[in-house]
Amino acid sequence: MIRMNEHYKKLQASYLFSEIARRVRSFEENHPGRPIIRLGIGDVTRPLPEACIGALHEAVDEMGDADAFRGYGPEQGYAFLRERIAHVDFQARGAVVDADEIFISDGAKCDTGNFQELLAGDVRVAVPDPVYPVYVDTNVMSGRTGEFRDGRYDGLLYLECTAENDFIPDLPAQPADVIYLCFPNNPTGAVITLSRLKQWVDYARENRSLILFDAAYAVFVKDPDVPRSIYEVEGARDVAVEFRSFSKTAGFTGLRCAYTVVPKECNVYDSKGDPVSLHALWSRRHSTKFNGVSYPVQRAAWAAYSDEGLEQITALRDYYMKNAAIILREMTSLGYACTGGENSPYIWVRTDGDSWEFFDSLLTRAAVVCTPGSGFGRCGRGYARISAFNDYERVLEAMGRIKAAFS
Ligand code: PLP
Repeated sequence: MIRMNEHYKKLQASYLFSEIARRVRSFEENHPGRPIIRLGIGDVTRPLPEACIGALHEAVDEMGDADAFRGYGPEQGYAFLRERIAHVDFQARGAVVDADEIFISDGAKCDTGNFQELLAGDVRVAVPDPVYPVYVDTNVMSGRTGEFRDGRYDGLLYLECTAENDFIPDLPAQPADVIYLCFPNNPTGAVITLSRLKQWVDYARENRSLILFDAAYAVFVKDPDVPRSIYEVEGARDVAVEFRSFSKTAGFTGLRCAYTVVPKECNVYDSKGDPVSLHALWSRRHSTKFNGVSYPVQRAAWAAYSDEGLEQITALRDYYMKNAAIILREMTSLGYACTGGENSPYIWVRTDGDSWEFFDSLLTRAAVVCTPGSGFGRCGRGYARISAFNDYERVLEAMGRIKAAFS
């Protein structure tokens, strides 16, 4: 008899997005002809930058030419892309990262989800609350948690992110072996200062812990004092892995390209307490289970780092951030306390009452969809996430409707 992985039984059904879809469907049925504006999802709406499109076309032509054709590429990714990433995203900003410490993949979701596979089954895992659910669910799948009770899994250490700590988690009272951090944060839009991030790096060094730093939204950081990468902090190379993505940076959600940085100095420990290179482990895993991102997609990502590409991705970032500024301004003027929206495409709105009540009232009174904060964890109760990923005109229209309905 083939038996299942029973840990999957502990997973909660994706209540959040299915419930949003159900409520939106019911609204649409009862209000035919009333157009809905969706500011709930984290997907981009703008087309790919021209530089990326040009590079894609050229790469496709190469694949049709017997002399230029390429088959399997290097599992870790083409050097042409890794070198540009190392230079533009890190070295030019004063962070030490080498091209051979970069692993190209098809998504930060998969990488953040897969990385825990390298760690022992009984490591103590700390996750932020509210949280990007992938960090939690993948640890549930691998059996690192107990049952789900009142919005939390037994065995996980939840790092509370609240208005009191500026949505930046405090160091835990109990020891944690692996710590998930995400800045700019999804869903709160909060960013971390260099000094607060340094506290986490120091904590990890003292406790021989590992930080899994998700910087999928790094491109949205405009403030020069806010770190984009954990490697801007001294000592981070020994204790941190960083995840990045082209999804929001260059509109690649449908094209798929991302990367993970694993510094050569970063170690995990075996049962005898001897250090083992995490880079070697991830390299082994990557080359065993992954066969690389397609050549045309890597060419498109590479083109995002050309002068033209960088200009275009900055314009793309600015486009969404103009939306974020409008959302932030209007929600604040209506009297809502908000976080995010300045170095992040998400605005975290304090709704005071129940998150779902706020969701319903936005939907029924303004036909605008947001994401109830309670779907991201217990600390998300009383909040809602509004996303800047939509067309400018729609965001303007949505804010006009909200203002008219709520003033
Ligand atoms: N990490 C965070 C925090 C995200 O919010 C998302 C997407 O919403 C991802 C990772 C996924 O990135 P990718 O599209 O590269 O899989």
